[in-house]
Amino acid sequence: MRNTPQDGHEHNKQNDRFPRIVKFNSADIGNDDTGVPPLDGQSMSLAPRRGPIETVVFTFAMPQEAQRWVHALNLTPYESPRNPGMNEQYKSKIGAVNVVVSINQFNLKHGVAGVGTNNSVLNAFCAINEFKPSLLVNAGTAGGFGDSGGVIGDIYLTKGAVMYHDRHIKLGNYEEYGNGGHSCLSLRRLPKILSAKTGVFSTGNSLNYKSSDMRRIIDSDALVKDMEAAAFAEIAEQFNVPFIGIKSISDLVDGNKPTPDQFQDNFGLATRNLHGALTKFVRFLANGRRLEDL
Ligand code: SAH
Repeated sequence: MRNTPQDGHEHNKQNDRFPRIVKFNSADIGNDDTGVPPLDGQSMSLAPRRGPIETVVFTFAMPQEAQRWVHALNLTPYESPRNPGMNEQYKSKIGAVNVVVSINQFNLKHGVAGVGTNNSVLNAFCAINEFKPSLLVNAGTAGGFGDSGGVIGDIYLTKGAVMYHDRHIKLGNYEEYGNGGHSCLSLRRLPKILSAKTGVFSTGNSLNYKSSDMRRIIDSDALVKDMEAAAFAEIAEQFNVPFIGIKSISDLVDGNKPTPDQFQDNFGLATRNLHGALTKFVRFLANGRRLEDL
């Protein structure tokens, strides 16, 4: 229902006065017997770190990043009764684990894949709500940094926090909110099993970058630049679902060719390597694993 003009006026007046903002007290949640750690800014990690992995949702931004792998695994197309026509989805049980693939909604107006954070949030919400996964994975391609040892075709797994580099909100706690800093599952064995490197991922809604974005990327020591991971990590964190990002390097941000050209030239190699790593990951999970085995 729409607000009456009077409501709208009242609402504005309230906002101007600010006291409606309730100061968040970390001691109010996560109290002892839940076993949930309290919220304390940087080290916020609500997701349970232990327990069996029953269902894993692998999210992708682009159908082209997922297609061959979906066929190789022989996953069954799935039409969600809750969200018909929303995300392209597939699922199958492989050994002990339910594997779901959920691809960001295709943008019909422009005829392109739904890359970026908006469609990622939508995908994350629909997938978490429907499948209640033990683990949410965001897989895809990304930019790397040659100066930091990044090589085209490298596989990176998330480490530490997942950041945003294009949300600049210099206003109290909103600054940290803008930075993201969302938690991801800490990994002990998986990097070796998948022959993957690890590093901080940084997300923004542009394939290129502005100098203010680059300053933030450098500040966070990010080794991977993409357009989705932080959005998936943010929603996963809100819903208490452990999160992992896995990206294959399709271009070098500090390379000497324009990013779109590199992306197109290397997309085949990057997705092949990604699929190899994801297949190893699923084979590992198929044996029946726990979060703490990763
Ligand atoms: N030129 C592509 C556009 C895809 S957008 C096309 O024609 O289809 C790029 C996608 O790859 C996003 O999903 C993003 O997460 C990832 N990506 C690859 N390299 C990137 C980079 N250097 N910076 C940001 N995202 C990148």
